[in-house]
Amino acid sequence: MIYRCKNCGGNAVYSPEKGTMFCPSCEGTDCEEPYIPSESANLLLCPNCGGELPLEKFTSALKCPFCDNYLILDERLEGAYQPRMIAPFRVGMEEVKTKIRERFGKMKFVPKDLVSDAKLDGMQGWYVPFWFYDYDTELIFDGVCTHVKTWKDEKFEYAERSDYDVHRNLGVNFRKLPVDASDAMPDSTMDLLAPFHYDDTVAYDSRLLSGFYAEQYNQSSTALEERAKKLMESSANTILNDSISKGPECNYQENNAVNRRTDVKSRDVQFGLMPVWKYDYIYHDQHYPFYINGQTGKIVGDTPVDKTKVLLCSALAGIVLALILYFAMNSIPAAIIGFFIAGGIFAGTNLRQRMSGNTTTAMTYVADSSVKVNLSSDRFITKRLDKKPLPPKQN
Ligand SMILES: [Zn+2]
Ligand SMILES: [Zn+2]
Repeated sequence: MIYRCKNCGGNAVYSPEKGTMFCPSCEGTDCEEPYIPSESANLLLCPNCGGELPLEKFTSALKCPFCDNYLILDERLEGAYQPRMIAPFRVGMEEVKTKIRERFGKMKFVPKDLVSDAKLDGMQGWYVPFWFYDYDTELIFDGVCTHVKTWKDEKFEYAERSDYDVHRNLGVNFRKLPVDASDAMPDSTMDLLAPFHYDDTVAYDSRLLSGFYAEQYNQSSTALEERAKKLMESSANTILNDSISKGPECNYQENNAVNRRTDVKSRDVQFGLMPVWKYDYIYHDQHYPFYINGQTGKIVGDTPVDKTKVLLCSALAGIVLALILYFAMNSIPAAIIGFFIAGGIFAGTNLRQRMSGNTTTAMTYVADSSVKVNLSSDRFITKRLDKKPLPPKQN
């Protein structure tokens, strides 16, 4: 399918800046109408120009390389492959270009064309497939929790330990635990791009795909469920630990579980799409991919370093120190050592340091969860006092 402009026949696309459908040819808004080729049409050919499409296995939306129209492959977005939700791009390409220029434009040893329009215009907006898992759970704890109070006097250290019989049953509904379902998208990159606003989603609407690339999920929701369960267990642990560390009379510093578990009462899973800009910069035949969060504009990627420039500057630094030492000490060996020290340090720091756009905050996912206390009971059992002599004081 292609979204065509009713006014001029151009290709209508979704504009993140305007938050609406837009025709770049006549600058009309909300002017789109779907053009659907006949059923007998060859799916491998562009319905607009007849060019052969470079289809990858999971591609569900793309730009025709011949006529630049954005195509949506409906037959790859139907049935089990139909997304239930989609998070629209909030950051447009021009804004991403500005952000990349701000970040990398002034760096000393970055190749200049990294931030050129010619290269940046090759950027593509991608909808990355995600599975979103919901779990309705009960978090259960039965055991003994201990409040420990310590103090000292002149001679002894005291520890008063009060044991409580503690029971908890918390009803927690985890919503939209995200697992990315694209092999092309490295998991570590998605973690670095976080946070995504998983709440900023709407019911699936194919118009939002126009102007972008999209992918079907590469793996089934069952195959990827372990990762969602890990997220859920880790959040469940935090919630339960928080609850069993607080009693009505005192806080507990220690706990011993007789029974501790998470019961999953029901589960649901939905397929959804999240927005990411990809900028694949090629330098000396090497790919330097940059990824930009399509909701927040956060950039992840490493820039190449212009090695020739670094080495020239290193040599210059070496010569400067060599000259200074030569005139100060009137010694050629000192000057040679100076050359290698200054040049080496300069080259070492600038070549090794990959000028990274990454911040290394790993994904800290806080479940969108509501906690209902089904049971909370704390009963005092016993108290005991430990007394330990302090070591004699030194004078
Ligand atoms: Zn138009
Ligand atoms: Zn075409």
